[in-house]
Amino acid sequence: MKPATIAVEDGRIASVRGWSDLSSSDELHDFGDLIMLPGLVDTHVHINEPGRTEWEGFWSATRAAAAGGVTTLVDMPLNCVPETIDVASLEAKRAAAQGKAWVDWAAWGGVVHGNAEALQPLVGAGVQGFKCFLIHSGIDGFHWVDEADLRLALEQLRGTGLPLLAHAEVAGPVTAATEALNRAGANWQAYCTYLASRPDDAEVKAISLLTRLADEYQTRIHIVHLASARALPLLVRAKQQGVPITVETCVHYLWFSAAAIPDGATEYKCAPPLRSEANREALWGALADGVVDMIATDHSPCPPAMKRREEGRWDRAWGGIASLGLALPVIWTEMSRREIDIHHLAQWMATAPARLAGFALRKGVLAAGADADFAVFDPDAEWTVTAEDLHFRHKLSPYVGAKVRGRVMETWLRGERIFARGQFGDGPCGRELVRS
Ligand SMILES: [Zn+2]
Repeated sequence: MKPATIAVEDGRIASVRGWSDLSSSDELHDFGDLIMLPGLVDTHVHINEPGRTEWEGFWSATRAAAAGGVTTLVDMPLNCVPETIDVASLEAKRAAAQGKAWVDWAAWGGVVHGNAEALQPLVGAGVQGFKCFLIHSGIDGFHWVDEADLRLALEQLRGTGLPLLAHAEVAGPVTAATEALNRAGANWQAYCTYLASRPDDAEVKAISLLTRLADEYQTRIHIVHLASARALPLLVRAKQQGVPITVETCVHYLWFSAAAIPDGATEYKCAPPLRSEANREALWGALADGVVDMIATDHSPCPPAMKRREEGRWDRAWGGIASLGLALPVIWTEMSRREIDIHHLAQWMATAPARLAGFALRKGVLAAGADADFAVFDPDAEWTVTAEDLHFRHKLSPYVGAKVRGRVMETWLRGERIFARGQFGDGPCGRELVRS
């Protein structure tokens, strides 16, 4: 980290120099000792609009992003309605986003059972890549895929340069574990029951299949929200062999661990589940070693009633953790404890995700030619997350009450200040980033 002067022209970074005087004609913003980070890029967000705007929408999700220093979101092809699995549904999403995006955004397309024919048209329509599930997604309109479906999709994607993102759990171990728990009369309000119902083996088996296919087809596969450290040896081996595979973990797997989760506290429900403290430590180690490439939020909210908090049953509550806007302080808090240099944060939360989504050089870097997207960050501010700090639609999040270090003071998008000290800019000026 060093002092710098960043010159901006027409929304792009013109130059990055050491500290220097600028001519009096320049509009100068002096951020003192605050840290300038590239605007963060979050490649795993469920905006849910159109169709489930009561869960979350472009307006509220992108404002939450802006407040958290995130200047680019890539939206998942579910839980919107229609799911983004053909060009017509992509166009519906584009129409829904008009005039509502406070930050730049782009779309992932969906790979589902039976839509192989729709993939090339979606490539042509400008999606950044595709997402699939190897287990029931929770949404009946977004059907999971098996090996045969994956092969059909990879035939279509081979040579396009676009990645296939995969929810890496297979159903077999989850079904077997759930049935065994039910036979034994397990208490579904206990977190340990939910954890036992989604064993590590489901992730290990899925990642074994995905690394094998990425190697065979020489086509990029990206593991979303890796939770199980038991899959790390497989990933180390695949990467050493040059298999085109990248790996993301999420903020929550790096912050929470199972033993501290109260029974019935379904705001912590996500899949794969939050695992042990030793597992969390191993994920931090894998980030440091470069086995895990990046951190995303998997912001996936729902109306509070769907969390069925009064009932507290993990098998009946909707899964998904709401966190958009909080990732930077949460991750920085852990990094400071571990004395990890902040340049890794820019790598994990801006540069690497930008590359995954095809925005290398344009987003996620402080370099001449890139968009002038910045998060201005106070690394020393200590604060406690309250519901008022949440800018997404429903103020239900397991992070409420968390004591964190570091605060986003300002966010800039293509040279415009869109958020400063709790206040938003005049109106949404985000754009869709379409692959050309
Ligand atoms: Zn997700």
